[in-house]
Amino acid sequence: MGSAGSRREAFDSHGRTHHSCAMAKARRTEIRRDFRFEAAHRLPKVPPGHKCGRMHGHSFLVTVVVGGEVDPELGWILDFAEIDEAIRPLRERLDHYTLNDIEGLENPTSELLAAWILERLTLPRVEVRAIEVHETCCAASVAYAY
Ligand SMILES: [Zn+2]
Repeated sequence: MGSAGSRREAFDSHGRTHHSCAMAKARRTEIRRDFRFEAAHRLPKVPPGHKCGRMHGHSFLVTVVVGGEVDPELGWILDFAEIDEAIRPLRERLDHYTLNDIEGLENPTSELLAAWILERLTLPRVEVRAIEVHETCCAASVAYAY
């Protein structure tokens, strides 16, 4: 007997549907959605002469980490399009602005920007677990909701 047949027998022996078997080993599932925006900032609290004290820009990459129950019927936590909808007004406030001019971002480090987004992003029925803000390809901050 081939391995596919063996696997099917195992499913039958504990009487689960194909779907619940697929999820049986996933103790926690998250989805991640990325968005990008361009913005300028300077960090007002760095020591004199620090390069981040000068006005400069980044192509920010933000990852939204969402957790919740996988809907047994649909097989997903949430439609990615719903995350896009929730992100849109925040992205519009950030994109092509000077972050220092935005209320709550007077010291716009990536850590504080991640927390700023985390505070403002809400989604129905699910948890926004973390926001990652990548300033460059190799430097990022993560704000966890818990
Ligand atoms: Zn910077």
